[in-house]
Amino acid sequence: MLGAGLALILTTTAGAFGDAGHRVIGRIAEMHLTNTRALQEVRGILRPGESLADASVWADTIRSATYEDEDTPRFRLAHPAHETYHYTNVPFQKDRYDPALPGAHFTDIVQMTRECIRVLRGSSQAFTRREALRLLAHFAGDIHQPLHVGNAFVSAEGPLRFVVPEGPVRWRSSLGGNALRYGPDGNFNLHSYWDSHAVNLVMRKEDPAAYAARLVKELGVPASWRTPGDPEGWPEAWATEALPLAREAYEGISVMEYLTPQAGGRTGHRWRIAQPAVYDALARQRVPVQLAKGGYRLAATLQAIWP
Ligand SMILES: [Zn+2]
Repeated sequence: MLGAGLALILTTTAGAFGDAGHRVIGRIAEMHLTNTRALQEVRGILRPGESLADASVWADTIRSATYEDEDTPRFRLAHPAHETYHYTNVPFQKDRYDPALPGAHFTDIVQMTRECIRVLRGSSQAFTRREALRLLAHFAGDIHQPLHVGNAFVSAEGPLRFVVPEGPVRWRSSLGGNALRYGPDGNFNLHSYWDSHAVNLVMRKEDPAAYAARLVKELGVPASWRTPGDPEGWPEAWATEALPLAREAYEGISVMEYLTPQAGGRTGHRWRIAQPAVYDALARQRVPVQLAKGGYRLAATLQAIWP
């Protein structure tokens, strides 16, 4: 119990699908790519001994401002907004992702995942090939975490509830659930619940490679995971598919009270929420599928780039 509590505290500050989730997805992709040209191309771009699982965590690692490797100074200089590439914040009530929706942005995860594909196809120079591959391996994971796509907006007037943002005022963004807090002193947030806590729940203490192998064996590749059309349109299709899952993740959540910002202005608007009793059961059902699907789709994308 102490161990689980500690893990929860350590992961609650992370703003992105936790390392374990990304590593599982990278590993699953490699399993699907065994003996393919795509895997040879991947090996040629990555360093000797560097796996897709290793590559998949770089985009988060570099969010720590003092972390440095030979690739980071140039990347940070060219991409000062790189932390915005990991998500889009479109209202979870919408039926489909659209770049014109509030919360969508030309540097959001849909646009940047497509840009990575374009770079690897040789039709864009927005990133180096090494950057593009490592970002793609990461974003393929994030885009399958529904709260990286569907955002909840909270009423700014009247009873506290989730609303569709219409007009310039009367709503506030929950920042992908980061501002929806629970637990003692509101230490935990709903975004991290899905990024890390839910992944820990399903993986227990299993090693990412072992868990990846188990998922591939148990879930296989249902036909519905295949994405039709040109791969540059796939990120948008995946975002649209994530919206009902985000809706489900916000449904049943009660917004209990507005929390004043923390001392020193460290946070903006925050709310205390209550989760329904069945919430962990929902996570246990959804998370393994999202991880396995993300891994398969990363592999499928790389195979579409290098047939
Ligand atoms: Zn991320």
